[in-house]
Amino acid sequence: MKITEVKTYDLNYPLAEPFANSRVWCKARTAGVVEIITDAGVTGWGEGLTTPNRQEIDAHIIGRDPLDAAVIWNDLYAQGWGDIAAISAVDIALWDIAGKVRDMPVYRLLGGAFRHRIPAYASGLFMRNRPDNTGALADEARAYADAGFPAVKMKIGHGEDYDVESVAAVREAIGDDLLFAVDANCGYDVGTAIDVGRKIADSDIYWYEEPIEIENVSGYAEIRRALGMRIAGGEMLRGHRAFRNLIQGRGIDIVQPDISVAGGFTECRKVQAMASANGVRVLPHMWGTSIRLAATLHWQATIPDDPESLHPQPSLFEFDMTENALRTELALEPLRAVDGEVEVPQGPGLGIEIDRDLLERYSS
Ligand SMILES: [Mg+2]
Repeated sequence: MKITEVKTYDLNYPLAEPFANSRVWCKARTAGVVEIITDAGVTGWGEGLTTPNRQEIDAHIIGRDPLDAAVIWNDLYAQGWGDIAAISAVDIALWDIAGKVRDMPVYRLLGGAFRHRIPAYASGLFMRNRPDNTGALADEARAYADAGFPAVKMKIGHGEDYDVESVAAVREAIGDDLLFAVDANCGYDVGTAIDVGRKIADSDIYWYEEPIEIENVSGYAEIRRALGMRIAGGEMLRGHRAFRNLIQGRGIDIVQPDISVAGGFTECRKVQAMASANGVRVLPHMWGTSIRLAATLHWQATIPDDPESLHPQPSLFEFDMTENALRTELALEPLRAVDGEVEVPQGPGLGIEIDRDLLERYSS
């Protein structure tokens, strides 16, 4: 079997209402999608934060055996493809092909699923330009609790006053039973991160995500020691070696590789092994189209419970609740959270069919 053609799609979905994390206002959702076509009539789909460029595809992918995913990964990297996010898209598409060729879901190729339904956390609660942002956050959080999510995550990093007031409002809205994570998107320095952490601690924070720049590994360790709170991060790191210091630095409890940023299935499994050896839990980051959603479900299904006991911490799936037709409509049969759980697709490969009309509509 050989790869005969690769198509790329730069997707852009403009938002009806922009929202902000601590660093940027998001006005559109974007993704790089690749379609890899083979001479066996099997086609694979992958997604990266970026798309590979055409010349590199023609020079290094056409004519290769698609079942050589790990070999192709190393070759692309060695060829100077510094953009691991683009390699991620290729790798996911190759695993999709491998599953379709063997008529089995990707999670089975990876050794089988520890769970077929994954409990999800509602990931949303961004800052928006509204007259009563705190009230709107409380209403949004209450809706997630009512929908049956066992956990929610909100954005902080907008200043101590904003964080303290809105975290208290969201905890009040969801009640005492739901797990509650906060995410500062690397928006603070060490001192502010510790101050904020102390002030929100009485809202029973399950994890504190990316309080500071991810490269500041000793800063993470300082925050973790000062707060005694679970610290999480790593969604923008690319390639397993980029995770090494963070995972070994005793600064995080939960590492969050994104399959479309860190390097696809091939690379994320290496990160997972490193995390396991260092006592760090893996909860993947997910922020993308139906393709990334499906790929993340397959990978997360294969990650063992942590700790491997009768009473593990929950393997929580990041379910993005914000407006994005690329996530809700790109797969002909959408992947949904029902009663706070998401089902792992059971079809061959990634187990999704792509809506080509939607793909063309949002291709730039
Ligand atoms: Mg995050």
